Amino acid sequence: MAPIDDPGPVPALIARMRGYGTTIFAQMTALATQTGAINLGQGFPDEDGPPEVLEAAVDAIRAGRNQYPPGRGVPELRAAIADHQHRWYGLELDPESQVLVTVGATEALAATVLALCEPGDEVVMFEPYFDSYAAVTSLAGAVRRTVPLRFPEYAVEEDRLRAAFSARTRLVLLNTPHNPTGKVFTAEEIELVCSIAREFGAWVVTDEVYEHLTFEDAVHIPAATLPGMAEHVITIGSAGKTLSTTGWKVGWVTGPAQVVTAVTTVKQFLTYVGSGPFQPAVAVGLRLPDERYRAFASTLQHKRNVLTAGLRAAGMTVNHPLGTYFVIADTAALGVRDAVAFCQELPHRVGVVGVPASVFHDDPAGCGATTQVRFAFCKRQDVLEEAAARLADLGPA
Ligand code: PMP
Ligand code: GLN
Repeated sequence: MAPIDDPGPVPALIARMRGYGTTIFAQMTALATQTGAINLGQGFPDEDGPPEVLEAAVDAIRAGRNQYPPGRGVPELRAAIADHQHRWYGLELDPESQVLVTVGATEALAATVLALCEPGDEVVMFEPYFDSYAAVTSLAGAVRRTVPLRFPEYAVEEDRLRAAFSARTRLVLLNTPHNPTGKVFTAEEIELVCSIAREFGAWVVTDEVYEHLTFEDAVHIPAATLPGMAEHVITIGSAGKTLSTTGWKVGWVTGPAQVVTAVTTVKQFLTYVGSGPFQPAVAVGLRLPDERYRAFASTLQHKRNVLTAGLRAAGMTVNHPLGTYFVIADTAALGVRDAVAFCQELPHRVGVVGVPASVFHDDPAGCGATTQVRFAFCKRQDVLEEAAARLADLGPA
């Protein structure tokens, strides 16, 4: 018999990472693969991006650019990132000291939070949030404070935002355009986040991976462009969404030199460097003319319209995303009580996969999210039309 104080087998995973399990995106993509369902779960496009960008990667491999690139990224990509920030937003960045290339925005987020947060520091984020925000905050031993946004407008409420800040707040994570809601934060909302962050001496970390995917007259505003904010903002970007190369995992961090150096220190020991031959190819993509970016966003807007019309016709209530790949659909009117169970059944019932919105929340019930599903519209139009036709067969739950 074991002694009564025997703690049993030692769990392999550290306590603060328990509960994260397998990401919902991997789970839902596996479910789509198993069932052959249309995958509107994980956000990745089903068509290749600009051919000259793909060619540039092939050329880089053939030209032998296959060994470790420099720690902060190849010079032509760092220059292209700095030029991109200037061309689109008027920001001035020194490519030597203010730009770091990372393994996707995922590593940029992790390295930034790990570099800036001591254990016990607090990280403010809006809820729903992209899943890695919670995980990397836990990894750093920091504590998250969430600010709820409510379907369908997801407007920022000043008192709730302010209430999330304290003397322990180290940084606020702002994601605009926002996954999973498709919300594009307004100038007033971004100003508010920045002014409260300044009041509490907190960094503003902005995740702008969907910066070029905006619709109608929505304008993406980088927090770093607000007066006096360049010194207080760390901006994260990625080629994945802009160039339809989610599998390349090329992202970046830009901001004040001292922060970029701090993030680089951590990044060295996460991956050292990343994605050698993809970096020059992304540099080519970042220099494509404005029209190419606009044409892509306008195609995506059309896809949004196709899917949202289909979801409405199937009896769901949807929000009106002004950016990203995603729309939130409330299934309550279909008699659904629990979107997690609904999403598990959906591929078997009609051959479509979505992601239950509750996974992006700490308090799904408090935000009214238990019956909501996130669907991705970054798929070919015929695929979206087929998904819409299948969802029309749903009927009551
Ligand atoms: N932030 C947000 C809001 C995302 O949706 C994603 C997923 N693409 C990421 C970060 C991670 O980006 P990457 O694939 O470049 O690591
Ligand atoms: N950003 C994508 C999504 O939200 C996928 C990211 C991932 O798989 N980690 O679906």
